[in-house]
Amino acid sequence: MQKSEALFTRAQQTIPGGVNSPVRAFKAVGGTPRFITKADGPYMWDADGKRYIDYVLSWGPMVLGHNNNKIREAVVEAAASGLSFGAPTEAEILMAEKINQLVPSMEMVRMVNSGTEATMSAIRIARGYTGRNKIVKFEGCYHGHADALLVKAGSGALTMGVPSSPGVPDEVAKHTMTVEFNNIDSVKEVFAQEGDDIACIIVEPVAGNMNCIPPVPGFLEGLRELCDQHGSVLIFDEVMTGFRVAQGGAQQRYQVTPDITCLGKVIGGGMPVGAFGGKKDIITYVSPTGPVYQAGTLSGNPVAMAAGLAALEQLEDATLYDSIFENTQKLADGMQQLANKHGIALTTNVAGSMFGLFFTDVDKVTNYQQAINCNTEQFKRFYHGMLEQGVYLAPASYEAGFVSKLHDEAIIDATLEAADKVFASL
Ligand code: PMP
Repeated sequence: MQKSEALFTRAQQTIPGGVNSPVRAFKAVGGTPRFITKADGPYMWDADGKRYIDYVLSWGPMVLGHNNNKIREAVVEAAASGLSFGAPTEAEILMAEKINQLVPSMEMVRMVNSGTEATMSAIRIARGYTGRNKIVKFEGCYHGHADALLVKAGSGALTMGVPSSPGVPDEVAKHTMTVEFNNIDSVKEVFAQEGDDIACIIVEPVAGNMNCIPPVPGFLEGLRELCDQHGSVLIFDEVMTGFRVAQGGAQQRYQVTPDITCLGKVIGGGMPVGAFGGKKDIITYVSPTGPVYQAGTLSGNPVAMAAGLAALEQLEDATLYDSIFENTQKLADGMQQLANKHGIALTTNVAGSMFGLFFTDVDKVTNYQQAINCNTEQFKRFYHGMLEQGVYLAPASYEAGFVSKLHDEAIIDATLEAADKVFASL
């Protein structure tokens, strides 16, 4: 760990906390973040040469595994023709067409550079389209770091103890109403009071930023119904779930169609890419066809489009998901059995290739309160035990885990072997 330690010390001189995104700093688990030098398939290597089986996968994008040949080759080829033009390219059309083909509710698509930009823009369009200001989000859901969405947020904001961030003016935050995930009654209540002023609901259809919590039956359907009744826009933030919990995202898996979908992570194949899209009459509200302004110097960047397209082309084979889902389930079931064997109170959630491990004696975690009441001390010890054994999990308990196509049975077995030892030591 010497090299990572030295790099971390040095990084903190010029980079706040030594990192460019807070959870990477290992604050929640303590110890030294591992500085990574390379990744391939299911593995990453740190600066000291130690190899890890990676269940973070760049926080989701690497559903095909790290260093995918076709993505890498597409990037190299695109880069040879120039890195950015600031003018339209055919690759952007191909990208929009491919997204529309795989997620048909996205009739029109605009590319951006991150998930944050996608959700921020989607909300602006929903507000412009409806002429309303209020938005509804769920406690513990994270939609990036735009002002209006850093209210009772999950992920790093929750981990750092600032779910409602300083720096967001009250005048902005007051328009964001937060309700309980998986509790449709709490949503009905705010709609009963404020329904005609609500521009949109934004939701992670599978919550992946307070660990991993799938929707209970009827929840997403209920949101659809309320939006239809009140003329509000339903936004699915599928930045994490897109091309991950099903080829067509959570909307395909749970058969509920939003008005706007936000994408990121997987659609960039590892490059900084986001997108929002949806019903034609809503999305054309954006500039230059409509009055709502939204733009980006590097949006639709040719190298990023090449990477994303190479990823999506490989994901067109929907059967590929069967084995990823099977292996994810096998991992979660194996963890559960081992925890039981060692008398550790644990429960797991799985949604496609996303999973959550909860150190709790609750049978099934379905809400935010249950998620934040887990045994974080035990998680920390488990985390460092697994790291020592060469398994890299998210360094915070409010994050979903991810499995790739290259996490085959042997990799899952090796992970469970490690977990057996670590559970025994807790
Ligand atoms: N929405 C969701 C559901 C996310 O998980 C994330 C990032 N983890 C974002 C939005 C923000 O994406 P980005 O970090 O690319 O801005």
